[in-house]
Formats: sequence, structure tokens, C-alpha cells
Amino acid sequence: MSEIKFKPCPFCGSNKLKLVKKKINYKDKKAYVASIRCNCCNARGGTVINLTIPYAIKEDVEQEAVDRWNRRDENETD
Ligand SMILES: [Zn+2]
Repeated sequence: MSEIKFKPCPFCGSNKLKLVKKKINYKDKKAYVASIRCNCCNARGGTVINLTIPYAIKEDVEQEAVDRWNRRDENETD
């Protein structure tokens, strides 16, 4: 398993980030949602929702959420 690495929060610079995961029901289907949350300033980003294959690719959803978070501050400097 690869280790998940977060970039520091673009708002407060904190490294206290966590991956928030939850299962939800969406139109009679089960979905899996992952997003990144800053414990310091409560910023949130990288939300990924997977409606099609809720459980099989859970790790991919989590990785995608991390990737989106990590990409965000690069995008904002554009
Ligand atoms: Zn923060």
C-alpha cells in the first residue's frame, strides 16, 4: 500500500489534514464519498463521490480526493 501524502493546507499552512470518508445513499444506490479536511481552519477540498462502484474502488476514490487536494494550490497560482 502506498502512503498517502497531503500538501499543507493552502489557507493556514497546517499539516493537520485528514481524509474524511463516508458512505451515503443516493437515489437508492450506495455511494462512497471522500474529501480532505483541515483540522486547523476546517477548510475542505478534493471531494470525490463515486456512485457507480461504491465499494470496489474505495482506495481509488480516496487517492483521487488526495490528488485533488494536492493539485488545488497549484491551480490557484495560475
Ligand atoms: Zn487549514
